[in-house]
Amino acid sequence: MDRFYEKTRDRLIEYAKIDTGSLPNTGRTPSTDNQFDLARVLFKELKDIGASDVYLDEKNCIVYGNIPSNSKKDIMPIGYIAHMDVSPDVKSSDVKPWVYENYQGGDIVLNKELNIVMEEALYPNLKNYIGMDIVFTDGTTLLGGDDKAAISTLMTFAEYLIEHPEIEHGPIRLAFTPDEEVGGLAKDLDLERFGAKLAYTIDGDYVGTINYETFNATEAMVSIEGLSVHPGTAKGVMINAVDVGVELINMLPLNERPYTTEGREGYYHSHYFKGNCEHADVDILIRDHDNDEFQRRIDFINSCVEKLAEKYGKERFSLTYSNGYRSMLNVVKPHMYMIDYLENAMKSAGVTPSITPFRGGTDGSAISHRGLPCPNISAGYENGHSRFEFVPIQSMVKNVEILIKLTDEFVKNA
Ligand SMILES: [Zn+2]
Repeated sequence: MDRFYEKTRDRLIEYAKIDTGSLPNTGRTPSTDNQFDLARVLFKELKDIGASDVYLDEKNCIVYGNIPSNSKKDIMPIGYIAHMDVSPDVKSSDVKPWVYENYQGGDIVLNKELNIVMEEALYPNLKNYIGMDIVFTDGTTLLGGDDKAAISTLMTFAEYLIEHPEIEHGPIRLAFTPDEEVGGLAKDLDLERFGAKLAYTIDGDYVGTINYETFNATEAMVSIEGLSVHPGTAKGVMINAVDVGVELINMLPLNERPYTTEGREGYYHSHYFKGNCEHADVDILIRDHDNDEFQRRIDFINSCVEKLAEKYGKERFSLTYSNGYRSMLNVVKPHMYMIDYLENAMKSAGVTPSITPFRGGTDGSAISHRGLPCPNISAGYENGHSRFEFVPIQSMVKNVEILIKLTDEFVKNA
């Protein structure tokens, strides 16, 4: 127990100091070279703890490692995946992690010099960690607990199994991947080399989180050609692409926007609009957990654009869809035992499972649709993508315990 505490704490602090910020739209893999800095550390560490088949994919920046089965039973290989990059939304260099021991409630001074205070009233989730030891930053950067808390947990879990051959387990596969935060979708993860039959991404926030339902997603990109003439003589002639764009956006139901929906409610999100009288581009994100509803939303956007095309001329509109992913639900459903085992593991570690439909996508969504069922479980961080991100050390310890119990579930049920 104490052992997991020190190991996870020290690892998180070490990994957090390595800047692994990724960047969107670079067209490169990995999007930033600095992700190799952590990949090399993890590659060496996996070797040092005695993992097998340790491999660093030098092209795609993915680290692999195995723990071979020590059981006489025929147990299927279980994979665990965590991502090495951190969000580009907030500064990720010069991270200064520190530990607040035995938090007793109240505001937390992150940075005296710059007067950065984390107010309990603004971050009520702090209350869930009374009595715990929490890793914070100095309030000027990310911590990167998303997803380095998961890497710390996995490394500690792997080391424990290797050092305790008396604990029976099946084959365990580990992979550390790049660019999750910028839509990398673990696309270069070599499933054959990975060799898992089932896998979990460890990338959720608070302990107990289980997501096996994600959004279905696509992005409708509408471009509008206007007809620009001198405004003084425009009557009956001008077609203002900006106005047509606004007309399109106003056709989207107000109660089906990101800021008016929650839980399993889908939405339309007009997230990009740029243009002038002559030309405008409107991009609308479409999200829904339900497959039929998702299709209905696409049909709705099509009909909106058709209506405008009838009014202003077909040749003025183009509509394309991209940046899609699909919910993992249908892929995971035939393997619901992997969720049952996880719930059992959490309960026997004293954690209440919290199954929520995820209002986003995960790398596991894409991995699932490549044929490897891959739900998401908690990494233990809070306030990801924020300067107020933190990780309770006891959360990582719990997650190591959960992984050990989960391993046992697969042994018991083999
Ligand atoms: Zn993450």
